[in-house]
Amino acid sequence: MTAQPAFPPFPWQRAQWHWLQRARASGRIGHAWLLAGPAGLGKSAFAAALAHSLLCERPAATGEPCLRCRSCHLFAVGTHPDLERIGPDEPGKPIRVDAIREYCERSSLTAQMGMYKVAILEPADAMNSAAANSLLKTLEEPSPSTLLLLVTAALHRLPPTVRSRCQRVDFPLPDAGRGVEMAAWADPGHRRCAGIAAGRRGAPGRAGRSGRDSARGALESPI
Ligand SMILES: [Zn+2]
Repeated sequence: MTAQPAFPPFPWQRAQWHWLQRARASGRIGHAWLLAGPAGLGKSAFAAALAHSLLCERPAATGEPCLRCRSCHLFAVGTHPDLERIGPDEPGKPIRVDAIREYCERSSLTAQMGMYKVAILEPADAMNSAAANSLLKTLEEPSPSTLLLLVTAALHRLPPTVRSRCQRVDFPLPDAGRGVEMAAWADPGHRRCAGIAAGRRGAPGRAGRSGRDSARGALESPI
């Protein structure tokens, strides 16, 4: 089976992608990255692509996964043993404190594939105070080769105790000129989107909604 990559980095995410890949190459990868910015910019898809990159056994120098190794295959079929997602049981509900506690216990285990253990926590702002508090010790004393990606469109809802223990990566709204380019990319068949983005600083996931392929469909994610 041919592995299909998550598409990102989207064109408007390249700076963040390259910054993180440079951090990885220099060994400054850290253990918890907080991907923060308005909804509709594809942060969720970015987190998945970053996880894929980190789990690949032979990534390119620019971070793109090889799509051929065993790890890439497991990622593509959704059964990679060193990747997990943590979120609410239902959209709009809080993340259970037990879900965080269970993750903290598992994070101390060694990666099965010998690379990283990656977890994507989103929306991170869905943690209530008990859940956030239960995460603090793991953030302070992370296990080697573990990486937690926290994704949020509501940074202000995250406790300062969590924010201060993560490396923050901002995804700002584009300016109007860049927004036109982004909206056209997100939905090239609907030129009106460029006008929408030009009229207001636009998040392409909200301006373009055709979802003609998996890449653009990834922007349907609210995060
Ligand atoms: Zn690979």
